[in-house]
Amino acid sequence: MKLNILGCYSATPRTFTNPTSQVLEINNHLFLIDCGEGTQVQLRKNKIKFSRIKHIFISHLHGDHCFGLAGLISTFKLLTREADLNIYAPKGLKEVITLQMKLSDSWTNFRLIFHELTSKESELIFEDEKVQVYTIPLKHRVYTNGFLFKEKQGERKLDKNAAQEANIDIAYYRKLKQGFDVKNKEGKLIKNESVTFDPTKPKSYAFCSDTMYSESIIPLINNIDVLYHESTFLEKHAHLAEPTKHCTAKQAARIAKEANVRTLVLGHYSTRYDGLEGFKAEAQEIFQNTLLAEDGKTLEF
Ligand SMILES: [Zn+2]
Repeated sequence: MKLNILGCYSATPRTFTNPTSQVLEINNHLFLIDCGEGTQVQLRKNKIKFSRIKHIFISHLHGDHCFGLAGLISTFKLLTREADLNIYAPKGLKEVITLQMKLSDSWTNFRLIFHELTSKESELIFEDEKVQVYTIPLKHRVYTNGFLFKEKQGERKLDKNAAQEANIDIAYYRKLKQGFDVKNKEGKLIKNESVTFDPTKPKSYAFCSDTMYSESIIPLINNIDVLYHESTFLEKHAHLAEPTKHCTAKQAARIAKEANVRTLVLGHYSTRYDGLEGFKAEAQEIFQNTLLAEDGKTLEF
């Protein structure tokens, strides 16, 4: 998995910072997560191929998470896109986008498929042979979901030398990868574990923005590899976090610790702060393996 942070600040685009947007590369997909204003410029700056984006996940309808979408769709049209575009977003965004297209008489020549989200429970919204995507219901001022991206458990890896030595017919290799015991050419049963290795551990990534401190997400993100959790404020501004239904860096760290994730990535910073080191220091008092999201930064895991 590779995570490209296109923008990780809250509220407005500014000279050197961008509102929320990320691209997650996972098993040949390029998933766009949130699409704040200016996302298409950030895609260009980060040299991400527009045509490879087939699925867009929008957490909620606050502008700093979706104002870039109408422009991006319009650009896709100008680039004569033909491939379907799937958009997973709260109910209402379809209305916004179609009204924009209707009033400007600029309907797309590719299929725009909206998957409108309304559930308050976690649900599976995307699945193929290798990847699943679930919603993570969050607590914010408007209906909001985070997203959990999970690789599926892969097949077992064949130890070819061991399989040849055990005199197993090549026709059974597929069965071995699927975990079955098989008979060799002499009819002797060969235990699967003696000729295969464990598959690599599937990776998982959760995007949780925007939200107030909520322990209800912990069962959904338990033991995942990487958690992006919003930390709009520092603890000294906790009185601002509460009414706006955001989190502090300390609260994000508490969630990471309780959920036993491997790495925490902080983001969605308020633009009131001059630097980001305070966020990291505050979170690391509780959860050591904390990284800072920064516009243009790439994380591989
Ligand atoms: Zn918001």
